[in-house]
Amino acid sequence: MSIQENIKQYTEELGKENCRLCAVSKTKPAEDIAEAYEAGQRIFGENKAQEMASKYEELPKDIEWHMIGHLQRNKVKYIAPFVSLIHSVDSERLLKEINKQGEKADRVIPCLLQVHIAEEESKFGLDRDEVMALLQPEILGEMPHIEIRGLMGMATNTDDDARVRKEFASLKSLFDTVKQGFDSERITMKELSMGMSGDYRVAMAEGSTLVRIGSAIFGARNYT
Ligand SMILES: *Cc1c(COP(=O)(O)O)cnc(C)c1O
Repeated sequence: MSIQENIKQYTEELGKENCRLCAVSKTKPAEDIAEAYEAGQRIFGENKAQEMASKYEELPKDIEWHMIGHLQRNKVKYIAPFVSLIHSVDSERLLKEINKQGEKADRVIPCLLQVHIAEEESKFGLDRDEVMALLQPEILGEMPHIEIRGLMGMATNTDDDARVRKEFASLKSLFDTVKQGFDSERITMKELSMGMSGDYRVAMAEGSTLVRIGSAIFGARNYT
């Protein structure tokens, strides 16, 4: 199927569950993004700051660019003026830098806190206590250029659906707790980013509002 057909099909399936699509275009050329754009897609996910910045320059300005990959502090400056949502905030130091660059760009930058839910040790992300600590007014109160819009998580890469379901359910539970305890002008908790090509149906069933789908739309990626 073509990129355009894929976009239409996923948009329709997700729409039934009030879930939105972040089309993960990392490593893919601008022509592929333009094709998805033609089909009506506006949210694109990238995992490298400079790659995102050059695609931003080249492509229509009503695209919403989402940073989904691990973000180094010294790269925040490349995307701060235009990024729509950073899914991958995994430390207070990174959040501080985003706040600083947000101030320079004279805007509030929407962020998701990335939570570690998978069994693999290597994945990035905060644990439950670290999430709670970051949301305290002593910390977030000092960062007027940050909006915490929700949480993001990646499940274990496994065929064991029950395990994946459990991990997504734990993230949803944390999301609900934060939403009840902290909901405010700066902690809006509107977005729960979970689900990729292989597990988006499970994620939707567990309450995802935003799935990040790459290879199922654009085809396998070539890392060279
Ligand atoms: C690459 C990536 C995706 C998309 O993965 P696919 O399996 O190609 O759908 C989703 N989320 C994150 C954080 C990624 O890095």
